[in-house]
Amino acid sequence: MADHYVPENLPTRIQHYIDGKFVDSVNGATFDVLNPVSNTNYATAAAGQKEDIELAVAAATRAFNDGPWPRMKPRERSRILNKIADAVEAQEARLAELESFDSGLPITQARGQAMRAAENFRFFADLIVAQFDDAMKVPGSQINYVNRKPIGVAGLITPWNTPFMLESWKLAPSLASGCTVVLKPAEFTPLSASLWAGIFEEAGLPQGVFNLVNGLGEEAGDALVKHPDVPLISFTGETTTGQTIFRNAATNLKGLSMELGGKSPCVVFADADFDAAIDSALFGVFSLNGERCTAGSRILVERPIYDEFCEKYAARAKNIVVGDPHDPKTEVGALVHPEHYNKVMSFVDIGKSEGRLLAGGGRPEGLDHGNYVAPTVFADVKPEARIFQEEIFGPVVAITPFDTDEEALELANGVKYGLAAYIWTQNLTRAHNFAQNVEAGMVWLNSHNVRDLRTPFGGVKASGLGHEGGFRSIDFYTDQQAVHITLGAVHTPKFGASASN
Ligand code: NAD
Repeated sequence: MADHYVPENLPTRIQHYIDGKFVDSVNGATFDVLNPVSNTNYATAAAGQKEDIELAVAAATRAFNDGPWPRMKPRERSRILNKIADAVEAQEARLAELESFDSGLPITQARGQAMRAAENFRFFADLIVAQFDDAMKVPGSQINYVNRKPIGVAGLITPWNTPFMLESWKLAPSLASGCTVVLKPAEFTPLSASLWAGIFEEAGLPQGVFNLVNGLGEEAGDALVKHPDVPLISFTGETTTGQTIFRNAATNLKGLSMELGGKSPCVVFADADFDAAIDSALFGVFSLNGERCTAGSRILVERPIYDEFCEKYAARAKNIVVGDPHDPKTEVGALVHPEHYNKVMSFVDIGKSEGRLLAGGGRPEGLDHGNYVAPTVFADVKPEARIFQEEIFGPVVAITPFDTDEEALELANGVKYGLAAYIWTQNLTRAHNFAQNVEAGMVWLNSHNVRDLRTPFGGVKASGLGHEGGFRSIDFYTDQQAVHITLGAVHTPKFGASASN
């Protein structure tokens, strides 16, 4: 008997799903999947190779070229997308249980992710029926219109931090647009992705439209990126992986959407609503185990409130409940994988020589096994410190004081990333000026990260390429062909018609 929670009917064998069937890898390759609480191997997953990607892309290509999906009326696709959302909602508890077990996310936060996954499908179901395109008239001579077409087979490559939700963020708009897809989920967390197959089948998604290939990034992911019949790749993951994919996609000039790493500032001015800022600055870096691309992992605090902020922040961080992800009281669970745990712990060690340790700094007491890290707070961190510059992607935060607005902006912008920024001040003019000058794809003023699915999502600098969200996602997965029609006489210059000829 395991000494930790194990969901009932847990699969021990995770397969690919290609052309409507669950299958193993052609060469039988597998990889081990660990549970982050015990780090024991609970399942083996099929490790997709080039030939498995070939089969998945061939199925998706057939479904695109000959199947009904790209040709359906938007309302028909929308009905199926809404059925998918219904099914995700209906399985919410099971999904959250599997997701929490596989990723180590606290169960209460995994539940939120399942609901957001369903919402992504509902949102794009609505959007696709409201989609219309431009027609431009030149009076008396021409009409031009946009003929929007799904691009083809979309390659979707996703990370492990909120697996199911992030998969839905790509699946919903690509399917709504009429593309067919090959999904390559993260190898640390393959469990929940298989659920899509049953959900899609039941909702009536035609065979071959959705294909899933599990496997390692360097094998399955790489083959998908290099496949000539996959015209676009939507990728979420680390910046260095994004750079590799960018290079590998160049040969076939693929469309790329990249949501990459972050080291986002949370800037707290002395005039801020102090308590609200503390709540948000804690949630911003310790929710989702700190494994959050938009984490406010650098807190910049104006000098007059700096000492009080550090003291209250550290006291609350020490009080955060770390423990079994399945326990509803848990606020920070176990990090996804021992490899990632070691990376985060090495930053905790580095931080001890780069800042003043106020909370955490290692394993929480009483949790001797599993990938647990106590919420860790470093103060007085200098901008050149590694823990200020590099993405840690765990429950570790750096706090730095500032004296002027200019200094705060310089600190905020002084890293290679530019994903999100959080600004706390009661001064409207300062808030807007800061928001407009901070190098971040998304800014929240006096708020933690609350998403509106209509707004652009993405980063600048090393945090990404392109924006998804709302109609921008549909733009990414479709081609906008311009069709020009002459009205009346055609006035073509008459080449070769002069008398001398
Ligand atoms: P990762 O880059 O290691 O892996 C992401 C995916 O890419 C996985 O499916 C992996 O198998 C695949 N992959 C790896 N090498 C590949 C290659 N050579 N070719 C093709 N595919 C390859 O990232 P991760 O560790 O899974 O996730 C954490 C990272 O994701 C963090 O940097 C985080 O900030 C980022 N992230 C960004 C956002 C965002 O929206 N900006 C959201 C969530 C996570």
